[in-house]
Amino acid sequence: MNNFKEIYDYMMEYDQFILAGHISPDGDCIGATFALALALRKLGKEASIYLESFLPMYHYLDGHEMVMTELPSLGHEVVPIFLDSSDEGRLGLASEYLNQGIRTVNIDHHASNNFYADFNYVEKDASSTCEIIYNFIEFMGVICDGAISKAIFTGLVYDTGVFRHPNTKSSTLSIASKLLEHEIHASDIINGLFYTKSYPATQLLGQALEGISLHFNERIAISGLSLMDIEAKNGTVEDVDGIVQYIGQVDTVEGAVFLYEKEPGVIKVSLRSKKSLDVAKLALGFGGGGHIRAAGCTIKGTVDQAKEEIIKALEGFRSDF
Ligand code: AMP
Ligand code: MN
Ligand code: MN
Repeated sequence: MNNFKEIYDYMMEYDQFILAGHISPDGDCIGATFALALALRKLGKEASIYLESFLPMYHYLDGHEMVMTELPSLGHEVVPIFLDSSDEGRLGLASEYLNQGIRTVNIDHHASNNFYADFNYVEKDASSTCEIIYNFIEFMGVICDGAISKAIFTGLVYDTGVFRHPNTKSSTLSIASKLLEHEIHASDIINGLFYTKSYPATQLLGQALEGISLHFNERIAISGLSLMDIEAKNGTVEDVDGIVQYIGQVDTVEGAVFLYEKEPGVIKVSLRSKKSLDVAKLALGFGGGGHIRAAGCTIKGTVDQAKEEIIKALEGFRSDF
């Protein structure tokens, strides 16, 4: 693994950067790309951001004009930096930047990161990639301003579930405390990310909760929505993101599974656990990955078929829950 200095020294040889997050970009990868791009601009560098999508819920971030949702071809002497992405598959189209001659940088906090870039910095105990980026920005000597603070706060809040998950450390809250010295409207960010849903999304949450089934002595809760379910409520797949956190609230449950049909015949599986089940290991068995308490994968077939496959795989983890 590389250290901050090696990565910083390499980066300072260049003037242009493209920062990319993972497919289905979330608050952590979006926050990290914005924060690092804004910091690089403060150093007089040119930075742009590639995201597969940029949902309106993130439009409060400063610096929209840096975002491209169509993959730009890599210009001459532009350094690609991948954030919050554990492997090549997570990069989506941006993975083509790996083979263009210029050395790439990977900064992440997933234990399953496979060091796919030329420079790799992976801190698996960091709450979020944004926490790492905060430290990296400080290392670069850039003074954190309101815009950078908003972006970093977004990732901290997103990946810790508003400082609720066990990945929340003293360091996470120290950083959050420093970010709040700027006028970032923290309460609005939290309400926008976690407590605001469209009408279809609210109805789909209700349907998913009603559809929960309990397995293995009520230790596992599973629910799923097909594309037909989603369309019947005039929803989109974005409306069901995050439902998994509600599936696990059943008091007897250790593991929560939420499945939805992302596109016809492709099922996205979100996995969460509370104390003992390693869901990253479970996801890895399906070609996915993530963290010990939050992981994901995709399975081909119908929602019901994917559910059966997950239940079958869970039998192999029976001693863990
Ligand atoms: P999600 O259930 O999509 O919120 O994802 C939970 C965690 O698992 C996040 O850290 C994701 O980065 C990771 N993850 C989700 N899907 C995949 C996948 N197909 N491959 C690898 N990691 C994933
Ligand atoms: Mn992420
Ligand atoms: Mn993350």
